[in-house]
Amino acid sequence: MLKIRKTKIIATLGPSSSTNEMIKTFIDLGVDAFRLNFSHGKYDDYTNLISTIHSIKKDMPIMADLKGAEIRTIVKNPNGITLQKNKETELIFNGEEVTDNNFSVSYDKIFQISKRNNHIMSDDGNIDFIIKDIKSDRLIITPTKDGILKDRKGTHFIGIDVPFPILTQNDKKDIEFAISQDVDFIAASMIKSEKEIYAIRGLLPEKIKLVAKIEHPHALSNIDKIIDASDMILVARGDLGVELPITEVPTAQKLIVKASQKFGKPVIIATQLLDSMMNSPRPTRAEVSDIANAVFDRVDALMLTGESAAGKYPAEAINCLCETVDNAEKTIDYTKYKDRTQINKNDASDAISYAAVDTAYSLKAKAIICFTSSGSTALRAAKFRPAIPIISISQNEDVVRQLSIAFGTVPIKSDIYSNTDEMIDNAKNIIIKEGIGEKGDIFIITAGFPVGIAGNTNMMKVITID
Ligand code: PEP
Repeated sequence: MLKIRKTKIIATLGPSSSTNEMIKTFIDLGVDAFRLNFSHGKYDDYTNLISTIHSIKKDMPIMADLKGAEIRTIVKNPNGITLQKNKETELIFNGEEVTDNNFSVSYDKIFQISKRNNHIMSDDGNIDFIIKDIKSDRLIITPTKDGILKDRKGTHFIGIDVPFPILTQNDKKDIEFAISQDVDFIAASMIKSEKEIYAIRGLLPEKIKLVAKIEHPHALSNIDKIIDASDMILVARGDLGVELPITEVPTAQKLIVKASQKFGKPVIIATQLLDSMMNSPRPTRAEVSDIANAVFDRVDALMLTGESAAGKYPAEAINCLCETVDNAEKTIDYTKYKDRTQINKNDASDAISYAAVDTAYSLKAKAIICFTSSGSTALRAAKFRPAIPIISISQNEDVVRQLSIAFGTVPIKSDIYSNTDEMIDNAKNIIIKEGIGEKGDIFIITAGFPVGIAGNTNMMKVITID
């Protein structure tokens, strides 16, 4: 049987991993797509990085992660400000007047809506202040613990609905750049409702898939609408664990994964999967358990952030992630999930995809073959989390790359076909050429006719290799 990793691997590239050797190592170890985080770095760096990646593997999928509306610290001293628990410090309104003893932030409107006793969290929650007093030109704040606050650290004003515009000027510039680089996915940060998704979608060519990063509590109350409007969902546990009490993150993760699976949309889990490997060649037991549990929840992909971008052991982290996924997958009986998946009533495409998986099990088929022009026929099969591979065949190269991070898929580019006979010939040629099957093997095909209409899976066929 064709052996594939069902849960896909995404690696964020950064200073620890942007060399030719490391990118090649990541690909050899089994990374399915790369993420570039636009919060760090310059356009020229990304342009070079993208061309390096594509010189190593032409069809490697790339996700551009937009900076989004964010607030960052402005700290003068390159070594940061030393904070002492309960010792007052000042957050001043005017970034130009920052000295060695105070700091400012990049979004000045925040001062009008700050409230006494609210928390301000910075550096992924490692720094936590309480607002003690509000003056005309500064906030008087006290740290809840000792620490060092550095420049450009992401900062959250907890419990305050920051009135960011739906799309910042920076986002627009980032989107324009990402489009010029022909990226496959754009990940949109700090999504709170479907409105931001529609606004970004309006700027994107249809071929780029839009990934909604869920990292704000407001998104949780709008989750169905956000998922419906997006192509994929990313559980961004870093910011989510600051905006929400950290102990609520696991429940939020489960809720987001379940909701995404109900819609049949790919869902990615990210951040601190292997955080201890930033500094250690070995992870903790809790980290590998967290990864295995995400695999048991049948997520589509797992994404390393700091570990692969800026950690001391980037290749070891990728290797550990892949091995943990493989060990978890080996223990799972995927056949039971078909009947636990919600089929949309009156939806012929869903009914056919369910029937394809069911028929595949009855006939002991080797794989389900999905002919797909937009990717939706393949994603419909993936919704049922089949135990056998989903060979997703498309004439569209963008779709082939984008399906690389969907559960259980093996995306392959096909020759042009315009009717069922040509399609079946194409399937048989690919099966033999790629070594997917041999004489006597059974495959189940699903497709939509006429070719090229998205979301229209209306055909199932059983073929035997002769
Ligand atoms: C996160 O918050 O977990 C995340 C992936 O987003 P970013 O790196 O943009 O903070």
